[in-house]
Order: sequence, then C-alpha cells, then structure tokens
Amino acid sequence: MALTGVAIFKLLPKTNCKKCGFPTCLAFAMKLAQRQTELDLCPDVSDEAKAQLGEASAPPIRPITLGAGDKAVKMGEETVMFRHEKKFVNPCALAVEIKDTEDEAAASEKVQAVLDSEINRVGQFLRVDAIVLSNDSGDAGKLEALAKLVAGKAPDVPVIISTADAQAGEAALKSFEGKKPVLYGATADNLDAMAAAAKAAGATLGIKAGSPDELSELTEKAKAQGVEDIVMDSGARKAGEIIRDNTLIRRAALKKSFKPLGYPTITFAVREDSLLEALVVATGIAKYSSIIVLSSIEKWKNLALFTLRQNIYTDPQVPMQVEQKVYDIGEPAKNAPLLITTNFSLTYFIVSGEVENSRIPTRLAVMDCEGLSVLTAWAAGKFTATKIAQFIKESGVEDNIEHRELIIPGYVAILSGAIEDKLEGWKITVGPREANALPAFLKSREAA
Ligand code: SF4
Repeated sequence: MALTGVAIFKLLPKTNCKKCGFPTCLAFAMKLAQRQTELDLCPDVSDEAKAQLGEASAPPIRPITLGAGDKAVKMGEETVMFRHEKKFVNPCALAVEIKDTEDEAAASEKVQAVLDSEINRVGQFLRVDAIVLSNDSGDAGKLEALAKLVAGKAPDVPVIISTADAQAGEAALKSFEGKKPVLYGATADNLDAMAAAAKAAGATLGIKAGSPDELSELTEKAKAQGVEDIVMDSGARKAGEIIRDNTLIRRAALKKSFKPLGYPTITFAVREDSLLEALVVATGIAKYSSIIVLSSIEKWKNLALFTLRQNIYTDPQVPMQVEQKVYDIGEPAKNAPLLITTNFSLTYFIVSGEVENSRIPTRLAVMDCEGLSVLTAWAAGKFTATKIAQFIKESGVEDNIEHRELIIPGYVAILSGAIEDKLEGWKITVGPREANALPAFLKSREAA
C-alpha cells in the first residue's frame, strides 16, 4: 500500500530548501502522497529514502508498452477516474481478433485490413493498433503458422497471442522476438507455465480471471514469479459487467493504491452483431479498458470508434490548436482567394479539407484564437475586427498577393464592415457559414 504524506515526510531531508518548488518538505510530501508530483524534484533525497519511496512515487497503474517501434502502444499510467479531473493519458488500443481456425486467405485479408485502417483525423494518425492471434483450434501448429503469417505480413503491428497452452504460446512467441507481445490466457490452472513462457520471451502476461478478486490473487502470484508486466481480464463480457469491473479495478488502483490491480486491462468485446460490438467497444473506450478486442474491421465502425477514442483521450485543459500562419492549399497564385478562420484544430482541418475538395488553390489565414472555434472566439472577443486586421497586416500576406480581398466565415458576417474600416483598401467578402459549402462557393467565384 502507498505511504501517507506524513510517512513520506519522515524520509525527506526536512530542510525546507524549496528546491523542489514547494515551500516545505511537508507540502512536497503531501503532493507526493497524492501522486501529483515526482520524487526526482527533490535533489537531496537519500538513496535509502529513494528506495523506500519508490513504491509511493510509482504510477498507480503500471506503464506497459505493447509492441515495439513506431506502432508501439503505451498503456497504463492513468491517474484519474474522470477525464475532467486532469486527463486520460494513454489512448486504449483497438485489436482485431484472428482465429487460427480461419483459412489463410481470410487471415491475410484481416491483416491487410489492419494495415489499411490508418486515417488522419485533425492531424493525428488513428488506426486499429494490434492483432489478437487466437488459438481456437487448440492446435499448437496452427497457432504457430498464424503467428508466422502475421509476423511476415505485418512485422510492425503489435500482437497478443491468446492461448491456454503455454507450450503453444511459447512456439508462437518466437515469431515476435523483441517486439513486446502479450501472451494472454493465464488462469489459475496454468499460471506457472504461462508466467514462465512470458518471462522467457520478454512478453507481457495476460491474466484472465472470473472476478477482480480472483484477478488480484493471480497478479500477486505472477509477480511473485518475477513477472512485472501484466494485463488483466476480469472475465467481464457484458457491457454492464465491463463498466462495473473496470471501474472497481481503477478505483482500487487509484483510490486505495491497491497494487495487485494496478495494471492495464484487456476487454473482449467480440460480438456477431457489428453494431452491438461497436457499442460494447465504445463502453470499454469510455470506461477504462486499455486494450479492446474486436472481431472485425469495418470502415464505419473504425471511424466512430477512432473519433470517440480521440475525443475521450484529448486533454480537456489544452485546446487542440494549429500554428498561426497563412497556409497555402495547393499552389496558390497571387490572385488566389484568401480565407480566414481560427486556429481550433477541428476548424482548421475541416475548412482546409473542404478547400482541398474544391481543387481551387487558396490561401487560408489561420489566426491564433487560443484554439477556439469561430463563433466561440468571436463571443470571447478573440476574433474581432481589430485583431483580424492586425493579424493580416503582420502576417506579410500582402506581399504575396495582388488583390486585397479577405473572405471571412459566414458566422461572423457582422464583422465585415468593421474589418473594412480597420483594413484600409481591403474588400471583405462574407463566405458560407458551414465549411461544407466552401467548394461550391469557391467554384462559383471561379466561374464568375
Ligand atoms: Fe524538502 Fe527536498 Fe523540497 Fe528541499 S527539495 S524542500 S529538501 S523536499
């Protein structure tokens, strides 16, 4: 269990030197007990105290990496129950299941679908992150063959090998040496052998139990065998059970500092009905699953789940924003249209996407409004005539164009007169209110 603030205080130098940024050692100790600061900030703490405090300063949910290289996925390290308290740290991994009973063509198709799943949404690359290789056949040879196929076709994609047979797991793991896979399927019946296999291969051990209580007993046993990296499956399959168990597990780890449940979780959402499966996956995304296993990949499902995951794992205290500047879309000539909008990422990517759709080279002036959308920025006094005029003048865009026309978003049509007053010699044109009307708007100007 974690140390209290007073117990931590007793181990600190007690000089109140303030080098850690806190006024006293006691204040630092209290924050450390709440895991709101790092022990490393105190340069004078003794090695002996460091060793004792290591547990107290360790993250309540162990950080674990699934896979290696650019596509590796970080899990754990969460510190809050609710996103608005601070932020959720590591987005959950979506993994698609391939059974070793599927024929080679079907398995290859699924691997390809994983490779093709990546999309760029508001500047972030989102994808199905991992593949689960399920030993449904119970045949070690079939699992090994599937492992070779996946390792050959998608060497960079993280994998989870699911089997109750430690020897079969051991053979399959050989295809993923150094790639930090998960060996999933350890239970009360096979824990020793599975733990040994995972440890020997440098893999994370996936433990499955019938309840959080049983899970905590099994993680303790695995730890006693020297296994540090664990992912946990409480056995919950129904959406309600997933919410209940995941909440209980996170609360135990964060609020009670209960180390046996301080590991990332894996949730199996596999369903025959795709829509139902998407809903169960969404439950896991919202409520604390670190890895969620799906049966199939479909574009509509990906888009919905990627968007939900991105929204939940966006830091609510940091608006998503892009750099203030004038962006060239295509290769705009000196007489190309000049549009203006704010630097909220979503606004920028939607507007620039629609301008690209129009295939008309355009300049897009993106003004720093602290990541607010057009209407919000206007209402907050950050997207005003004075500020727009100042930005346009300071941007240097006047040197690159031979006209003096600025197209403003339709939602702030009210600003057109005031901007014309501030930007001498400029004509202000009111564009459409919605970005999806931009292609038609730009094309109609070309035709005129
Ligand atoms: Fe105390 Fe260390 Fe902070 Fe100095 S740096 S006030 S010794 S906790």
